[in-house]
Amino acid sequence: MIKVTNLVKRHGALEVLKGISLEVPKGEVDAVIGPSGGGKSTFLRCINGLEPFQGGEVTVGAHTLTPATTQRTHPKLLEGVRRTVGFVFQQFNLFPHLTVMQNLIEAPMMVLGESQDSARARATVILDRVGLASKHNSYPRDLSGGQQQRVAIARTLVMRPEAILFDEPTSALDPVMAGEVLAVMADLAKEGQTMIVVTHSMNFARSVATRVHVFADGYDVENGPPAQVFADPQHPTTKSFLVQAAK
Ligand code: ADP
Ligand code: MG
Repeated sequence: MIKVTNLVKRHGALEVLKGISLEVPKGEVDAVIGPSGGGKSTFLRCINGLEPFQGGEVTVGAHTLTPATTQRTHPKLLEGVRRTVGFVFQQFNLFPHLTVMQNLIEAPMMVLGESQDSARARATVILDRVGLASKHNSYPRDLSGGQQQRVAIARTLVMRPEAILFDEPTSALDPVMAGEVLAVMADLAKEGQTMIVVTHSMNFARSVATRVHVFADGYDVENGPPAQVFADPQHPTTKSFLVQAAK
């Protein structure tokens, strides 16, 4: 579903990703953990075409991005990539002037060309799935952070993405709200949603992920099944990161 080969990303002289390779088969959940500045967000942004890159290749579903791919030269390809992979950000980015329902039907109607009736029907089912059926008429400002993030997840789901990328979706939330969001994500994983999750939640990585990757300084320094990475870390960076994360 997602295949990244030898991905290199630079900002000027700074090499932010130094040759990352990773493969996520359909239905698998990969967690990415590691110290701040290691390249985790940049990695996700390269996968869905939000950032150009200088080396390697990214394939999502039927679409392949290369360094030659830009918005200007390949608008249709980038549109295809963004339709195939959804993105959930740390900051929820809901439209503040639209109700929850309006937030959820906007893209299906505008981008997928769905009728209002069918978009509403589908949004209603998905709102229920994230535990917010009663909030369809609320505005984002009247929701808690955890509720807003669950709406943001619902807004991704209504687009029927083949895979979803999450970039620290709970780091702006208190522990209770974070728990509500992580529960929704664990549910999606159980239902076979393909996901890559950058997270601070070691519990989530341990209990939900199929594979855990430790990113540091632009490298995937260690990866493996969570049982191995957490119980028997091999790389010194993983060891010190896990000690810090447990504090
Ligand atoms: P993480 O998400 O793991 O904290 P990031 O991907 O945000 O790491 O950042 C990786 C590195 O790339 C950091 O050193 C950061 O300062 C740098 N970086 C990110 N975006 C830019 C940019 N637009 N211009 C220059 N440097 C950047
Ligand atoms: Mg980040």
